Amino acid sequence: MHEITLLSGKGGTGKTTVAAALASISRDAVFCDADVDAADMHLILKPEILEEHRFESNWVAKIDDDNCTRCSKCVEYCRFDAIHYKPFGGLEINPFQCEGCRLCERICPVGAIHSEKSNNNFWYVSKTRFGTLVHAKMGAGEENSGKLVTEVRKKAMEIAKSTGARFVITDGPPGIGCPVISALTGTHKVLMVIEPTKSGLHDIKRLVDLALNFEPEMYAVINKYDINTGVTNEIEKYLNENSIKLLARIPFDTAMVEAMLKEKTMVEYQPASPISKIIEEIWEVITKTEYVEIEG
Ligand code: SF4
Ligand code: SF4
Repeated sequence: MHEITLLSGKGGTGKTTVAAALASISRDAVFCDADVDAADMHLILKPEILEEHRFESNWVAKIDDDNCTRCSKCVEYCRFDAIHYKPFGGLEINPFQCEGCRLCERICPVGAIHSEKSNNNFWYVSKTRFGTLVHAKMGAGEENSGKLVTEVRKKAMEIAKSTGARFVITDGPPGIGCPVISALTGTHKVLMVIEPTKSGLHDIKRLVDLALNFEPEMYAVINKYDINTGVTNEIEKYLNENSIKLLARIPFDTAMVEAMLKEKTMVEYQPASPISKIIEEIWEVITKTEYVEIEG
């Protein structure tokens, strides 16, 4: 069994559309929507929720600005470098860097720090017309540190193992932050969905630099390649230079949007179309080499 994670340097490249289309032809996979900030695989897969679980985050420290005397003791003691001076005075704690050790809370001489846990996030196991989907919903204003991404992936892998599914298809988060690091850790194959714009090329270079540290097999598709063939050529050159296999160039087609509006994957909406054939070819190639897990 191996996990195929779809990533993009930024949102809006068509990553979820491609992920859902692959899901609709996979037949032997568990699906995971790890784009927990903007989960939208459910819009196409229309899940029927079987299980709902509350996800409790770790402790995160907060400073009460009114009580803080700016003694800097907490800055000095935080070994995760999570406490910073604000540009216009005062201190703040970066929730992505805070490890919830609560040391600052104990050493603050005036009790200006307290810690909170968030329990406003949920993850679900659902049934879809193509198979099981593990997905999540974050509460309004919640920060995504990547822990919820780890949780949904873990659950999807467990289900795949227990049901004998051969694949997990994970729709990963966009960008290159903590959630992407959580999605990359331990995944077997990465399929990058790239849009042919200058910013798309820039974003994908940053993503590749990050992803290479995790040593997955790397593949790419260029979506709407014909809206800017000059940049498409630049992207292809970059992929070649970095030995990343380009699996397909997907042309722009309004049918992709029509399919989404009808809550269908492209393969369901127009099974005989050139794009559906391309999706089938992507699946064929990316699943051809079976990932071999080495027992430790
Ligand atoms: S230790 Fe307490 S009082 Fe001192 S800077 Fe930190 S929050 Fe403010
Ligand atoms: S809880 Fe620990 S990691 Fe978080 S800010 Fe305080 S000392 Fe730093």
